[in-house]
Amino acid sequence: LLVDLLDLNTTSEIFKQHKLSQNDQLVGVQDVISCLTTIYSGLEEKYKDLVNVPLCVDMCLNWLLNVYDSGRTGKIRVQSLKIGLMSLSKGLLEEKYRYLFKEVAGPTEMCDQRQLGLLLHDAIQIPRQLGEVAAFGGSNIEPSVRSCFQQNHNKPEITVKQFIDWMRLEPQSMVWLPVLHRVAAAETAKHQAKCNICKECPIVGFRYRSLKHFNYDVCQSCFFSGRTAKGHKLHYPMVEYCIPTTSGEDVRDFTKVLKNKFRSKKYFAKHPRLGYLPVQTVLEGDNLETSLQIEYEQLKEQHLRRGISPLASPPDSVVSPQHASEDAELIAEAKLLRQHKGRLEARMQILEDHNKQLESQLHRLRQLLEQ
Ligand SMILES: [Zn+2]
Repeated sequence: LLVDLLDLNTTSEIFKQHKLSQNDQLVGVQDVISCLTTIYSGLEEKYKDLVNVPLCVDMCLNWLLNVYDSGRTGKIRVQSLKIGLMSLSKGLLEEKYRYLFKEVAGPTEMCDQRQLGLLLHDAIQIPRQLGEVAAFGGSNIEPSVRSCFQQNHNKPEITVKQFIDWMRLEPQSMVWLPVLHRVAAAETAKHQAKCNICKECPIVGFRYRSLKHFNYDVCQSCFFSGRTAKGHKLHYPMVEYCIPTTSGEDVRDFTKVLKNKFRSKKYFAKHPRLGYLPVQTVLEGDNLETSLQIEYEQLKEQHLRRGISPLASPPDSVVSPQHASEDAELIAEAKLLRQHKGRLEARMQILEDHNKQLESQLHRLRQLLEQ
């Protein structure tokens, strides 16, 4: 799409130039084309070999209509056009949040629940068009809006700073945006480190560093395939790097490794790492998985204990009626436990599928970037 060549300021200027100031208004295809033509003509001056104006305008228009006008009414909202183009433009992540906020905020530069809701709604249409909306908490933006305002003591309006602070927590519905940025930054990053598993050196792309072992670095392909070495467990904390580390970060990680050396396995079980701020949703990734595993282990233990105890008691030659009823109870209980186990296993399966989905999502985001 090449919108990633576009910087935020230019985009915002072009919107003004085309008098796209009424966010609630609808614009027709002709106006969208004229706006896109200005955008791509500007880009053509800078990147002569890359940009073919009519082709780009056509592709971008198609994308916008797919995302924001799936019913093909031939019109999209001004705000949707802005949010869509800005979300994919070039620029620092926080600067992008600032621009997005400014677009929806009123003249007082404050944003109420409705305005934030509209912003999130327009933004979430982007992963939705890729069929990935479920993983970001579904298309219902209510819980996200609530989460943001709760963070700010339920005041009627929030400032741009409060919005950015909330976005920094990477709320589930918007986490795709920072992920997209990191994928873009990592694409070409080279790290002066060797992968402990496949021995790739330097590591290209994402680099994962252990916070439990010294000098344990993993490349992205080994990380995503879940390979380990040196007795490193998958639940140990890792940091993700998309750009080469600075010496400050090296020192910081070193102290974290030291701290983690003294932490027990229980600590890691109690502090599951969620990379994003979850908003109320059906699937809760890591959290649910650990609690399920614990539950499963407990059930197995109970099951074993019950299975063994009748054998441990001295064998009676005559089975008393009391014993018989106890046995029947045990059998019924065992049956229940087995059913429960079956359900847990089914849920585990769902979680595994969910994991796979996330991986394919990353893959798709990457493809989108390459377009
Ligand atoms: Zn590797």
